[in-house]
Amino acid sequence: MDIIPNEFLDKHQCKGEQKGEWIVFTCPECDFERRIHLETDEMVTTGGDPDVLHRGAYAPVGIELQTNLN
Ligand SMILES: [Zn+2]
Repeated sequence: MDIIPNEFLDKHQCKGEQKGEWIVFTCPECDFERRIHLETDEMVTTGGDPDVLHRGAYAPVGIELQTNLN
């Protein structure tokens, strides 16, 4: 198996959205979804291809949160 440099990996930009106590990142290009709990930092990930780099940003009022989803 060849090692593929990061630049050649697929990258999907996710959209962050607050739903109750969770920040939910969803990918418009596949079925990837990651939720991060605001108080406990618990993370739940479903779907998506492990070879695809998922990045997302969510900016609640007054706070800037940048998350590298991988
Ligand atoms: Zn994706």
